[in-house]
Amino acid sequence: MHNKTLSELSQALQSGETTSQALTQYFLDRIQQHDGQLNSFITVTPELALEQAKAADELRAQGKAGKLTGIPMAHKDIFCTQGVRTSCASKMLDNFTAPYNAGVVENVQKAGMVMLGKTNMDEFAMGSSNETSFYGAVKNPWDLDTVPGGSSGGSAAAVAARLAPVATGTDTGGSIRQPAALCGITGMKPTYGLVSRYGMIAFASSLDQGGPMGQSAEDVALLLEAMSGFDERDSTSIDRPVADFSADLNNDIQGLKIGLPKDYFGEGLDPEVNAALQTAIKELEQLGATFEEIELPNNKLAVPVYYIIAPAECSSNLSRFDGVRFGYRCEDPVDLVDMYKRSRGEGFGAEVKRRIMVGTYALSAGYYDAYYLKSQQIRHLISEDFKAAFKKVDVILGPTTPTPAFKIGEKADDPITMYLSDIYTIAVNLAGLPAMSLPAGFANKLPVGMQLIGNYFDEAKLLNVAHQYQQRTDWHRQLPEQFA
Ligand code: GLN
Repeated sequence: MHNKTLSELSQALQSGETTSQALTQYFLDRIQQHDGQLNSFITVTPELALEQAKAADELRAQGKAGKLTGIPMAHKDIFCTQGVRTSCASKMLDNFTAPYNAGVVENVQKAGMVMLGKTNMDEFAMGSSNETSFYGAVKNPWDLDTVPGGSSGGSAAAVAARLAPVATGTDTGGSIRQPAALCGITGMKPTYGLVSRYGMIAFASSLDQGGPMGQSAEDVALLLEAMSGFDERDSTSIDRPVADFSADLNNDIQGLKIGLPKDYFGEGLDPEVNAALQTAIKELEQLGATFEEIELPNNKLAVPVYYIIAPAECSSNLSRFDGVRFGYRCEDPVDLVDMYKRSRGEGFGAEVKRRIMVGTYALSAGYYDAYYLKSQQIRHLISEDFKAAFKKVDVILGPTTPTPAFKIGEKADDPITMYLSDIYTIAVNLAGLPAMSLPAGFANKLPVGMQLIGNYFDEAKLLNVAHQYQQRTDWHRQLPEQFA
C-alpha cells in the first residue's frame, strides 16, 4: 500500500479497496515502526489523524469526496497547525501551540487530506543537512549515516521511506529541492507568490516559498493544486486562478528546448552525479527534446548574495521571538534586558544566532549600502540572466546538488562548505522562479537529483517534462531496501 502514488491511493479509496481510516492507521503504524531510526517527525498526531480520516470516510459515503479526500500526508513543522505544537525545530517554539492554521494547512484540509503529523527540519529552516534541529538530526533512509539534506529533511526522509505518501516543504534557497535530491524523491519550489505564506513561520520573506514533496511529478502536481491559491492574508500572494497542474503531464515534449548552464556542469560537480545527468539528458533527447548550452554569468554570486539577503531578512523576522510574545522565556530574569538576552541566547541554536548576527551587521548604518543594497542590485542581475536564458530555451536543466548525500557531521562545523551545497538552487529563489528536483539515478548507491528550472508560472511545463521522464525511467519508484 505504501508504494502507491496519490492517484493509485485515490483509486483504492474510490473503489472501496480501503478506507481513509484504514489507510491512515497503516501509515501511523509505519511511522511507529520506522521513525525511531529516521527521526523524520517531530510530532505525530494519531488521534487528530484518525478523526480527520473518519470525517473523510463520511464525506465519501455522502458522495462528496474529491481526488485527495482521505489521503494521509505530513506538514513540515514550519506551518502553523491549530491546536498542534508548531516548533520550527527550535527550542524557542518547543512549547508553542499554534492558535490558527496556515493557509496551506487550510487548503489541504479543504481538499480532505489527513494530517499524520509534523516533520523535522533545520531550526527555522536554516540549513542544508537537517542537523540544526533542536530535536536532533534526521537520517537519510538510503544510508542512515548520511544526511537527508535540509531544511525540509524530515519531509523528504518521511516520503522516501514511505512513512507518508506526500508532504509539504518550504524552499528559501533550496530546502525542498536539495533534500528531495538527496533522498531520491520529487519536490517542487513554485513561483514566488503561488503558495500562501500566511501562517508559514518566516525565515526570509522575499525568498520563502512553500511547495509539494512526493514520489512522482504526478503526485507533486496533485498536491500543488491542493496547496496553492490566492490568499489575501499574504501581501505577496498572487491573485490568479489555481492552474490545473496535472493538465499538461502527458503532453509530447518533442521540440522542447532545454538549456544546460555551463557553470552548473563545471568544477565542483561530482563526476558520478554528472554521469547520471548525462544519461538523463540522453533519455530526454530520445523524447524529442533538444539541448543547448547557456550562460548564467552571475550565478557565481548567488551564494554570497543570498547569505547577505537571507540573514538580513531573518534578523528582522526573528526579532519577534523576544521571550514575551511567543515561545521560550528564560528562568528568573532579573530585568527586561536580561529576559530578552537570555531568552534569545538560550532559545536559539548556533546557526540561527550566526545568521541573526550576520544580518544585523549587514543592515546596520554604514554597512547597509555596501552589503544589503549591493546584494539587491546583484539579485536583479541574476534575474536578468534567467530572463535572457528563457528567451532562448523553454526549460533549464542541471544538477540539484553538487554531490549525493554526505555523512552526518561531515560539514556541520564548516558553515561555508555547507552553504556551498546550495550552489545550484539558490539563484532560483533570488529570481522567484519555479524549479523542481526529481530522481535521476544513483551515485555511490545514493540518489542523484536532476533539477529543472522554468520561467515564471511554468510549473505545468516542468511537471510535464518530469512526468515524461518518469514514464521512461523508474528511479522514482525505487525504495530503500530497509523500508520496502
Ligand atoms: N540551505 C539554505 C540555508 O541554509 C536554504 C535553506 C532553505 O531553503 N530554507 O539558508
